[in-house]
Amino acid sequence: MKNLKPLSSPALDAVIVGGGVVGLTLAYWLSSNHKKVVVLDQAEVPNFKAPSGDHMRAFYLTHGKDFFYTELARTALPFWLKLNAESGQTIFSQTGFLDLASKIPGFETHSFETLKKMKIRAEWIDKKNLPREHGVFNARALKGALFHPDGGFIWAQRALSLIAALAQKEGAVIHGRSKVASLIKDNSGKLKGVKDSNGKTWEAENFIFTTGIWSPKILKDYRIPLRPTRQFQIYLKPPQNPGRFRLEHFSVFRLTALGFCGFPMHVHGYMKIIDYKPGPFGDPDEDKLKAPPPSVEKKCRAFLKKYIPDIASYSESETSLCHFDATKDGDFIVDKLRNFPNAYIAAGFNGKGFSLAPAIGKILSDWILAGKPSVNLQRFRLSRFK
Ligand SMILES: Cc1cc2nc3c(=O)[nH]c(=O)nc-3n(C[C@H](O)[C@H](O)[C@H](O)COP(=O)(O)OP(=O)(O)OC[C@H]3O[C@@H](n4cnc5c(N)ncnc54)[C@H](O)[C@@H]3O)c2cc1C
Repeated sequence: MKNLKPLSSPALDAVIVGGGVVGLTLAYWLSSNHKKVVVLDQAEVPNFKAPSGDHMRAFYLTHGKDFFYTELARTALPFWLKLNAESGQTIFSQTGFLDLASKIPGFETHSFETLKKMKIRAEWIDKKNLPREHGVFNARALKGALFHPDGGFIWAQRALSLIAALAQKEGAVIHGRSKVASLIKDNSGKLKGVKDSNGKTWEAENFIFTTGIWSPKILKDYRIPLRPTRQFQIYLKPPQNPGRFRLEHFSVFRLTALGFCGFPMHVHGYMKIIDYKPGPFGDPDEDKLKAPPPSVEKKCRAFLKKYIPDIASYSESETSLCHFDATKDGDFIVDKLRNFPNAYIAAGFNGKGFSLAPAIGKILSDWILAGKPSVNLQRFRLSRFK
């Protein structure tokens, strides 16, 4: 049989490279504004091996003194609630979010001030009231806690499937197993197309790279200043009275000074604890799921022994490895790609991109539709790294 040359795609408004949570929410916003959109991903969509494809991701409005991120979270919140309403399922478990304070003043008191100024519901819990209200935590080791009822966690895999379905309903076309291998420029300096690993060229008016930890690879000529860091998540079974850790009784919690965050126990009886201080560099394509170094578990047990002693003696546990797309200053990258008027990048989410993805997707969509961003993106510019 004759080997047919693949045809070029018809005119598209946008090609989104990367079908993680950011790419899919962007596809949803653009296609619901009648734009012709194609999403290309190197793996299946949803890709459960990418950072977006985890079981659970925390959603919170507490970002210390940072009004900008708090506003991004406030913008994202209605989208997560809408997914619950539209699907009739629980995509977003709004358990509330508990920020434990190990020192005062600190991140938690600053967050409380910010939430009050922004008129976002929140309650300060004094140390003496902690045993009554959140008895599993060791109040003697804490100075108090901040609780905000709008926080919680997102069932990430369910969310991805639903966002993909909503985008498709609006007309977006999603192609899995289409790894973008190269970029094609035209004579005027615009990006004309991208070529995928199947040999097909995709031409469009706009290109958006939402390729997360893989961004430095696909955009290797553009020196994207982020590096993947290895982050281990520990899933443990509470050794006694597990009922207290179920989501009906227990909220997502975090102790920012130590970098630990934990989730209620899910259906299989495991609760997840993450150490979200950025770890060492790890190549996402080479790092196979191997056992974490003993120091990871040691650190986790030391944290639990001090703050949640009832679960420190767990014996059943599992671990998983995932990567942050970390930038030096901890801020995101949302910008046009150097030299191209029609190519954008959104990456560098430093372990907090899932919950804020609806806001980032909306900002990018508004930028593409209106020709300029609807918010000041100075902080997310690539030029800040020079
Ligand atoms: C351990 C851990 C815990 C976290 N906890 C939280 C949390 O509690 N709350 C929170 O908000 N965030 C959290 N995050 C961060 C969050 O998961 C990420 O910021 C978010 O999922 C990033 O989404 P993304 O769409 O930018 O990228 P990704 O999910 O990485 O998706 C990128 C996609 O691009 C595709 N791709 C890459 N290269 C190519 C190519 N050349 N061609 C085609 N496709 C390509 C990939 O296959 C992938 O599907 C956590 C991350 C980790 C690792």
